[in-house]
Amino acid sequence: MEKILFLAHTEGSGTLSPASAQALAAAVALSKSLPGSTLTVGVWGEGGQAAADAIAGCGAVAFFSVTGKDFDVPRYASDAAAAEALVRKSGASVVIAPASSRISRALPGVAVRVGGRIETHVVALTATGAKVQIKRWYYRQRLQATMSRAHRPWCLVVDAGVFDAWQGAAGKASVEAISVALPEGSKRTRVEGVVAASASVQTIRPDADLLFVAGAGWTKKQADGQSHAKQGEGLILEFLEKSKASLGGSKSLVDLSGEGREVLSFMSHMNQVGQTGSSPRHRKGLSTCCHGEEPHVVGWRFITERRAINKDANCGWARGKADVVYVADAFEVMAKVNALLAKG
Ligand SMILES: Cc1cc2nc3c(=O)[nH]c(=O)nc-3n(C[C@H](O)[C@H](O)[C@H](O)COP(=O)(O)OP(=O)(O)OC[C@H]3O[C@@H](n4cnc5c(N)ncnc54)[C@H](O)[C@@H]3O)c2cc1C
Repeated sequence: MEKILFLAHTEGSGTLSPASAQALAAAVALSKSLPGSTLTVGVWGEGGQAAADAIAGCGAVAFFSVTGKDFDVPRYASDAAAAEALVRKSGASVVIAPASSRISRALPGVAVRVGGRIETHVVALTATGAKVQIKRWYYRQRLQATMSRAHRPWCLVVDAGVFDAWQGAAGKASVEAISVALPEGSKRTRVEGVVAASASVQTIRPDADLLFVAGAGWTKKQADGQSHAKQGEGLILEFLEKSKASLGGSKSLVDLSGEGREVLSFMSHMNQVGQTGSSPRHRKGLSTCCHGEEPHVVGWRFITERRAINKDANCGWARGKADVVYVADAFEVMAKVNALLAKG
């Protein structure tokens, strides 16, 4: 009989992130399919009660929280102390948590402290009889393994974008506050503030429906023999603003930005998609001025519907890597798209 703990930190002011709601859905589904199992919720950070209230209808038999100013900020020592206390209090045999940066950093240490084991990049959880099985990625998401473990507690960090977010009734959760005394030595790291990847515009939006990828073509000489990077920058910014798409870049483009050349000011290595970049999950993707070479396209494996705009009818996208390729000038197409979006 498994005791399942859904573990998460708040995003401040009593909210849980979309990735947390997805991990909760995974935990709820697993507990429903495991005979005799129970579900418990453990949250830490500012507004724990409000966060628990928002998911009061998830079927948990108990809610625990760790609150206090020391636990609001992302810091290994306090995050690990809070998570450890919640795991111990719940007596969990299986811990399910979202892959936030805080949990990815703190939970491996917590697993060691409680004598458990941990799996990251979990993308499926199933029950066969009383046995829990998971699927997880290895080697930068190139190999997928199906596995189970007899060892408990077993911590499972669930990748974002895999499960639909939990939806259900809010209510008044009966939350038991767990007190955690944090030694002075655990408070040495202070959070002074947050520096976003881009100062002028937020471009990475993991929850967006659409991934918009810009390639180096935006900076290349065009038919008139001139580069029009500034114009491209304006078109892309306007599109991102209107569509709320997430911005990805090819390696060639982000490398140019890193070298300080005049390119897209809001593009950084954080945006790079591909073999040595990220593999974001979005329902749709639109590639522009990007050739579609394999080291780039391998980062598109979780993009369901793919389209590309390229002047070259023989580009990589046209060789079976996109569902639709528009053989066209991306400057002209995006200007037209923006005009249509402006009409609403
Ligand atoms: C080990 C290794 C790892 C790598 N990892 C990555 C990675 O993680 N991510 C990644 O992206 N790359 C990666 N690369 C590099 C990759 O192979 C390509 O070099 C890179 O993706 C090319 O970027 P690009 O398509 O933007 O630029 P280019 O190859 O220069 O292509 C520009 C494209 O823009 C088009 N174009 C120009 N003007 C217009 C216009 N007006 N309208 C429409 N189209 C236009 C051109 O036709 C051209 O196809 C890696 C390479 C290696 C060897």
